[in-house]
Amino acid sequence: MNILFVASECAPFVKTGGLADVIGAVPKALSALGHSVRVLIPGYPALAPQMAAGKVVMTFSDLFGGPARVVAASAQGLDLLLLDAPHLFDRKGTLYLDEAGRDHPDNHLRFGALSLAGAHVASEGLGKWRADVVNVHDWQAGLLPAYLSQMDGARPPVVMTIHNIAFQGVFPAQTLEPLKLAASLFTQDGIEYWGQISFLKAGLALSQKITTVSPSYAAEILTPEFGMGMEGLLRARAGDLTGILNGIDLDVWNPETDAALPKTYSAKSQTPKAANRREVEKRFDLKGKGPLFCVISRLTTQKGLDLLLDCLPGLVWRGARLAVLGNGDKAIEQAFISAASRYRGSVGVIIGYDEGLSHLMQGGCDAILIPSRFEPCGLTQLYGLRYGTIPVVARTGGLADTIIDANHAAGFANCATGFQFAPINAQLLDRAIARACDAFENRKEWTAMVRRAMKHPVGWDQSAMAYLDVYTSAQGSA
Ligand code: ADP
Repeated sequence: MNILFVASECAPFVKTGGLADVIGAVPKALSALGHSVRVLIPGYPALAPQMAAGKVVMTFSDLFGGPARVVAASAQGLDLLLLDAPHLFDRKGTLYLDEAGRDHPDNHLRFGALSLAGAHVASEGLGKWRADVVNVHDWQAGLLPAYLSQMDGARPPVVMTIHNIAFQGVFPAQTLEPLKLAASLFTQDGIEYWGQISFLKAGLALSQKITTVSPSYAAEILTPEFGMGMEGLLRARAGDLTGILNGIDLDVWNPETDAALPKTYSAKSQTPKAANRREVEKRFDLKGKGPLFCVISRLTTQKGLDLLLDCLPGLVWRGARLAVLGNGDKAIEQAFISAASRYRGSVGVIIGYDEGLSHLMQGGCDAILIPSRFEPCGLTQLYGLRYGTIPVVARTGGLADTIIDANHAAGFANCATGFQFAPINAQLLDRAIARACDAFENRKEWTAMVRRAMKHPVGWDQSAMAYLDVYTSAQGSA
């Protein structure tokens, strides 16, 4: 099958979160099964070398304010299609925000252009390559089926994948015209959302099939608590919605070969983890010998890290330590910086984004804390499993689906891989941390749990097959 992916980020080239990891990994898993996947992403400055080395396969004389081209390039095992449009993507700041941390004012045009270019590739093909199915990811690619519906050429079926329903790409109704969208699309069944345009809603309303990144999240987003206003539409389309669990790239995240680790290790030989732990302690200025917890996360209320702040006195009292790597909400950043100075030697904080350090922490810490209020899938708990860094997680979304709580029954069955808590509040997070600290004291049992976690399957094999099933059924319903 020929599959076109359209997304706004892709690891290892451009990444702000889990979306990038997934876009960097699924195409490889599908290719291994014999399918041809092209990945269309914006040509950000970080991709300049790939654009320079690639081949121009499509041109636009004017794509929302300037000339643009699609450049095909192979890199890191991926067949990339890079939308080279400097007037839209050659920017300072992050992928979505300017240097002052505000949304780029023309984000609707930037990602409208991505969707429009994707629709052209889907409709016209590239040489002999024609997409049998298009998989658009998150709101940034949500307009693609809207543009495709306005085109005369081929109309391959579209599957929309929701990585996080909190981000919806909502813009004023006046952007309809500059985005070159037909007025007939501006209806309740189309792209209109409370008098505005929602890119996400466009994708959800106009795609043949919808997927999201875990079975639990697929159920949760049908409710007002998690659906963020899209629950009505999703309930109407529940028969077309599938939850497919994310996996991880087993080559990139491999404790046996990871170049970011002072000492590599396997499930059989965990002792070298101690050398990695010492390096983490050095980087975060931590003392003592208790269990070493970590956080590797965007620092936002979604991730529940304000709850963790309330648990720090108990964590420190139990002799545990905490290393936090993250950035985001300024108030949460500041609160962790203050905590690090209050609990010097027990709590260490590095504000920033550091891929190498995140690998080191997975390779050197004992447990990873993920107290998210909602979590579509979550990847850091999967990296935790693979690296034997026991996940302590809120029981929600993909966290509920991937971790086996060390409860009484799991003890009998010898299958626990971590700790879960619910309802999601500071008291129960504190209990979960206490349970993990107690378990850590029993070295034999802890080592057995680490070994089990490291053997838990977290690759893409099963999920890649599940995507193929959805693509096939989308073809049937196009
Ligand atoms: P989300 O996409 O909601 O941010 P996920 O758990 O799905 O959450 O994915 C987060 C990804 O970003 C993981 O690969 C994680 O290791 C990485 N990550 C998050 N924050 C940082 C950071 N400060 N430094 C390095 N990597 C980070």
